[in-house]
Amino acid sequence: MKIFCGRANPTTGSMEWLEEGEDYDYHQEIARSRYADMLHDKDRNVKYYQGIRAAVSRVKERGEKAIVLDIGTGTGLLSMMAASAGADFCYAIEVFKPMANAAVKIVEKNGFSDKIKVINKHSTEVTVGPDGDMQCRANILVTELFDTELIGEGALPTYEHAHKYLVQEGCEAVPHRATVYVQLVESRRMWSWKKLFPVHVEAEDGEKILVPPLEMENCPGVPSVCDIQLNQMPSSDFSTLSDVVTMFSVDFSKPVQSASTYYRVQLEPLKSGKAQIVLSWWDIDMDPSGMINCTMAPYWVKPTSALQWRDHWMQCVYFLPREEPVLQGEKLYLTACRDEYSVWYNLQKAREGENKADEEEHKADVLVESPVCRCRAHLLWNRPRLGELNDQHRTRQYLQSLRKVLKTDSICLCISDGSLLPVLAHYLGAKQVQYFVLFFRSLHFSLFFKANHLEDKIKIIEARPELLKPSHLEDKKISVLVGEPFFTTSLLPWHNLYFWYARTAVSTHLASNVTVLPQSASLHMMIVEFQDLWRIRSPCGTCEGFDIQTLDDMIKDSLNFRESKEAEPHPLWEYPCKSLSDPQEVLTFDFTKAVPQHCLSTEGSVKILRKGKSHGAVLWMEYCLAADISVSTGLVQLSDEKGNCEWNPHCKQAVYFFSSVIESEILSDPTVVTYAINFDTKTGEIAMDFKL
Ligand code: SAH
Repeated sequence: MKIFCGRANPTTGSMEWLEEGEDYDYHQEIARSRYADMLHDKDRNVKYYQGIRAAVSRVKERGEKAIVLDIGTGTGLLSMMAASAGADFCYAIEVFKPMANAAVKIVEKNGFSDKIKVINKHSTEVTVGPDGDMQCRANILVTELFDTELIGEGALPTYEHAHKYLVQEGCEAVPHRATVYVQLVESRRMWSWKKLFPVHVEAEDGEKILVPPLEMENCPGVPSVCDIQLNQMPSSDFSTLSDVVTMFSVDFSKPVQSASTYYRVQLEPLKSGKAQIVLSWWDIDMDPSGMINCTMAPYWVKPTSALQWRDHWMQCVYFLPREEPVLQGEKLYLTACRDEYSVWYNLQKAREGENKADEEEHKADVLVESPVCRCRAHLLWNRPRLGELNDQHRTRQYLQSLRKVLKTDSICLCISDGSLLPVLAHYLGAKQVQYFVLFFRSLHFSLFFKANHLEDKIKIIEARPELLKPSHLEDKKISVLVGEPFFTTSLLPWHNLYFWYARTAVSTHLASNVTVLPQSASLHMMIVEFQDLWRIRSPCGTCEGFDIQTLDDMIKDSLNFRESKEAEPHPLWEYPCKSLSDPQEVLTFDFTKAVPQHCLSTEGSVKILRKGKSHGAVLWMEYCLAADISVSTGLVQLSDEKGNCEWNPHCKQAVYFFSSVIESEILSDPTVVTYAINFDTKTGEIAMDFKL
């Protein structure tokens, strides 16, 4: 089997696929997996255990042997719970080989080898019979195959198959049922992740408005789920238009159908507004009575109950195909369409005097196709990027800087993926200014220029920077080189330094007095204590009394292996943390000069100024656009004495988790963290090391 692993190359701005051999060791997958987060989810674990105990008791009360099928056993946790609860035998199925191996060890270490058989297969490959993987069908079905969207990890086809071939009729299922809830909201912030809003530019000859192309206005966007930590969305950023409504539920104890279907509910808006977004989450009842419930409901739904933090299950944001003005009390229908793996929504107004029979007739218009981006803009601009382009404060900063650097006779070249800078520059500039946009991915961006009648004002050059020829530029030298910089292949903040490499590649085309915007970038760093994110990389030790240290060791091995010890990208607006040190500038990159041959390194120390646990360092880039104007892709504000941070809501920051956590108590003799950071100009990667 061939395994390909993707890696962004910041020196070429492209994704590279490296082929791994037979013996590929999955270290990256293990190091970055969500197992630890899941096993730290106390609420989930406790409720599974309660549900499993109750199911085993019910079977025993009927005088039957309890035979458990645990699909996707991971560490073997749920099977060990079942065995402890008195199950007679458990078949623990796990498709991911390194996990199945770990499960065997964990089961043995906890003394359950005679009760639990780990089978390293996909559940649909499992056989039943005297010579099969399972001796007989099971009468208890235990699984945890859910993602934030509930069905995205293939729970439905797995259940469908299990009911047909692996479990008895009338089996007990833990969880017993899942229910999906929705709430209709209006939110400019979330809507800005799907739509491009018109951009207003104050030019010398009046206000200019940049409009998105019609193709984009009517485009349903991309099908992938938008999953976020909704609990970090302040209530001031959205307005609820409906109550929380039950959309659909799935009973896992009965045969499950995975074929595409739809569900429809009636809604009456609580107030008038613009219906844009459907927020959604689910809960699972571990037993038939519904007494053991594990919910993903966000903070405003049950304000009194304690929220369990988790990253493996969050909440979903669905974008309606178009914004719909709705009136308080009017009759609406919300439809959830789903296929085997995903869900999408559609809103309709009930027609005057509509009755049941008519309703049936309208089925055809209720169903809408799964969203597939037709305009291509949603492929180029992912959701956070659209949010960024719609950020008026940010646009103003770029406009201000462009005003400073543009002259009436400027020859401008823009290097950035899907940037609006050339358009802004065009509106600001005088007629003679010439603009070129260097694109080397086929981006269908011309749509945008067409919509704004700029086709003959701005020339798109489809060439890689190193292949740029004088003829592309009509034999002119570039006097202003601009970029945001933003590239779709960037994963970590410094990957956008590709702008610097591209700038270097086009050096011969630049005028001797060229102005580069941004003129420089700087890497910043701060030591933080996370409110919760630390859990995803923290050892579990034991879980509900079961020793799962084998998993901790496995993750640690993987973290220590090869490049896994790098920083990882996280959008910190979703993951609150407290700064323990002052933010510090650690490296600068001068875009007015070419990328040097030698590495850029720095060493130094940071003082821990606040009490707390040093979980890791956060790193981000700041760009100096022009004199006195800079934009941060990381820390926006240190809001108070306590060290609460406000992060750029459109970007991911780099998080480097320390291998051990230090707790600082005494501040009179401050703890010092030393660091060594190296930017390798050959690879474009940043390596770092910290000593606590
Ligand atoms: N049951 C464990 C782990 C849950 S994570 C716990 O609750 O802690 C889900 C696991 O299921 C993953 O390890 C994944 O590899 C596995 N998995 C998902 N679908 C599967 C299937 N159809 N057959 C076998 N394993 C599956």
